[in-house]
Amino acid sequence: MTLNSFERSRLRMDEARRVLAGGVSSNFRLGISPTPLVISRGDGPYLYDIDGNRLIDYYLGMGPMILGHNPPAVIEAARAQLDNGILFAGQTETEFEAARLVCEMVPCAQRVRFGSSGTEVVQAALRLARAATGRATIVKFEGHYHGWVDSVQWSVAPTAQSGGPPEHPIKVSGSVGQDPASGDHISILPWNDLRALEERLAQGDVAGVLMEPAMCNTSAIAPRPGYLDGVRAACTDSGAVLIFDEVITGFRVAAGGAQQLFGVTPDLATFGKAIANGFPVAALAGRADLMDMFVSAGVVHGGTYNAHPMCMAAAVATLRELRTGAVYLTIEERGRRLMTGISDLLSRHGLPARVQGFPGIFHVAFGIDSPIETYRDSLGVDRARYVEFTTAALARGVRALERGAWFLSSTHDDDVLERTLETLDAVVAGLVAEHDD
Ligand code: PMP
Repeated sequence: MTLNSFERSRLRMDEARRVLAGGVSSNFRLGISPTPLVISRGDGPYLYDIDGNRLIDYYLGMGPMILGHNPPAVIEAARAQLDNGILFAGQTETEFEAARLVCEMVPCAQRVRFGSSGTEVVQAALRLARAATGRATIVKFEGHYHGWVDSVQWSVAPTAQSGGPPEHPIKVSGSVGQDPASGDHISILPWNDLRALEERLAQGDVAGVLMEPAMCNTSAIAPRPGYLDGVRAACTDSGAVLIFDEVITGFRVAAGGAQQLFGVTPDLATFGKAIANGFPVAALAGRADLMDMFVSAGVVHGGTYNAHPMCMAAAVATLRELRTGAVYLTIEERGRRLMTGISDLLSRHGLPARVQGFPGIFHVAFGIDSPIETYRDSLGVDRARYVEFTTAALARGVRALERGAWFLSSTHDDDVLERTLETLDAVVAGLVAEHDD
């Protein structure tokens, strides 16, 4: 089999760096091996790059494309909306319908506000929590990601050395240039450790507890049995606002997100990604009394592009399809098959590895074969070897994120899965042979 060449992407990236910083518009697209790709189009589970390669895509735009790259109903709805104009700074019926669908599908959603990115709706949630409690501190957990801005980019990916003792992590800045004072009211805790949270809440100064209800940005770690229930009770007891950041899990692990899957209802929740299958839509949803503080208590939330009509049309079309539940049944069955298939082929080739998470978003980790339950467990992963694997997989037509996450869409059918597993089998055989030499 001839391997894919990425030469044209490499050349165009070199040229693009002269006008676009690093050739990219997000730091998370930098440094990808063998080169960041230049994409010409997407179709179902596939991406086509400018070298003419067809790649089975498991990035899915970093998660949003749950219905694949070009679902007809979503594209048609967005296109039709454009015939009516672009942006109105007024309300639309489509926006009301999107809000109604979110309220119908998401357990905590009594009211909704829309935005354009996950990062910004998290900021709105923090404001509400502080306004509602009159307290300042936000509890955040090691390894959780809530956006790239100063207020939350703390301890997202610390090393074992920089992070301090596992049970009492040190606050670690996520970016050069970050305002050091932006961490003054952030308290970092280990996730999946109820006692640590209960002790911190007992200090009585916590406005909000912000968490991914399953740690999908690191190793797709599920909450320990009873952990979320304990968190819920502890927040209620201490008066802290519980915020689930469902930007990844929302509309992906279930129609009602992780809160529905695990049966624990937060006070507020943030959404993005799958809510509009790749159009820039984010949402903050939650208790009516909290959300109405935007109206009656002087809490400000704004944004020129909020509830952009074209994006709202895409959201309505996406949510209508997701609401039926059929997509989740499909992804459940195929995702499990893919997880088992990858796990089996890695063990057949004698590579210690761990595949864990949910059928629609799971992680593959090398160098570890026991369950990864905490952020610190995840530091034992052999990242260098995994990058060799994703690089070799890309050369054979399978595109998976270097940091371990795999996203699945309803368009990854049996044939696509079979070809993925065959490809990975050849990739791993090659890797093992190389290391045996
Ligand atoms: N929260 C979580 C859990 C996320 O995974 C992300 C993005 N990966 C964000 C917030 C930020 O969302 P956005 O990139 O849309 O700003």
